[in-house]
Amino acid sequence: MATAYVGIGSNLGEPRRQIEAALDELDRVPRTRVARRSSLYRSAPAGHADQPDFLNAVARLETGLDAEALLGELQAIEQRHGRERSFANAPRTLDLDLLLHEAGAAGTPRLTLPHPRMHERAFVLAPLAEIAPDAEVPGHGRAVELLARCAGQHVARIA
Ligand code: ADP
Ligand code: MG
Repeated sequence: MATAYVGIGSNLGEPRRQIEAALDELDRVPRTRVARRSSLYRSAPAGHADQPDFLNAVARLETGLDAEALLGELQAIEQRHGRERSFANAPRTLDLDLLLHEAGAAGTPRLTLPHPRMHERAFVLAPLAEIAPDAEVPGHGRAVELLARCAGQHVARIA
């Protein structure tokens, strides 16, 4: 079994319900369970600002799946939630990002690990640091220290 971390985001429909449903679905992925989940966090949208705030969370998984197979499961869950890929940073009912996988790094057109933008996103680093205070982003450093560098980004823990 490997430890993996998944970032969850939603800003359309009923974000809280989408995130809770996604956590249940992650727990039902074959050979996978949700070992720990963060609180929910509210964050202002990045990039395209004219859209609702996001709710975000991070889950720690214990999984027998390799990173590629796990990404496939995440995308299947996104699709069941009616996600349409319109443009980068567009509003979405559910976004599931594979942040870290114990098996290490990846660099294919489909999968980059660690997730290429996680080290500069407070809405990922805050919930990650909550459930894994010692978490490291390979190539970048400790999550808590990276989070301290995101001081300009507003993220509020809500539950
Ligand atoms: P973002 O989450 O950065 O706003 P998208 O979810 O729309 O962007 O991007 C999804 C694309 O990113 C997919 O085509 C997927 O194959 C690719 N991708 C590469 N690495 C990862 C990763 N670690 N986790 C999730 N998607 C990834
Ligand atoms: Mg994504």
